[in-house]
Amino acid sequence: MHEDIEKVLIDEDVIRRRLVVLAERIIADFEGKPMVAVALLKGAVLFVADLIRHIPLPMEFELLNVSSYHGGLKSSGEVLFLDNHQPDLHGKHVLLLDDILDTGLTMEAVTKKLKDQGAEDVKTCVLLAKDIPRDTVKEADYTGFVIANEFVVGYGLDYQDRYRNLPYVGILKEEVISS
Ligand code: 5GP
Ligand code: MG
Ligand code: MG
Repeated sequence: MHEDIEKVLIDEDVIRRRLVVLAERIIADFEGKPMVAVALLKGAVLFVADLIRHIPLPMEFELLNVSSYHGGLKSSGEVLFLDNHQPDLHGKHVLLLDDILDTGLTMEAVTKKLKDQGAEDVKTCVLLAKDIPRDTVKEADYTGFVIANEFVVGYGLDYQDRYRNLPYVGILKEEVISS
């Protein structure tokens, strides 16, 4: 285990097995439809790479660069689109993937943008969802794991752009965050 990690929450094997189950549900829903997987940088990169190899459907693949945390620990509530890349989504069924659903504002804002760009339908998929009430924002269509309301890193998720390469999801030691 990495020396900055206090505790492993979800280990590699558990993640791998859960992705197979998610993929089966996604295949059933998207089969026969023109599919585009749209993953949010950078956090969803490990997740999407591992997930889509279990989805043997014809699909296009896009990466979108958005930011809501601006390097800190809390969502700013404002989603910034960091590039002007605009894939043509007319008539397409989008699978929108992110690492984690916290406030849900990121997925809500990006879903709206993709529909504005002509997407026929947008289904949302997250590796993790925090166990918090979301009154106005909807849950994801596909959720890997529901976790407690703690800040996590690993398997794509960062703290100050570090720890994304850890193969598991874990909690940082307190002294790493305060220093
Ligand atoms: P939301 O807009 O749902 O509040 O935030 C979603 C984004 O915030 C995620 O894509 C992720 O970048 C970041 N985020 C939310 N919770 C965590 C967390 O516990 N750890 C890390 N590393 N990022 C998080
Ligand atoms: Mg993110
Ligand atoms: Mg981040």
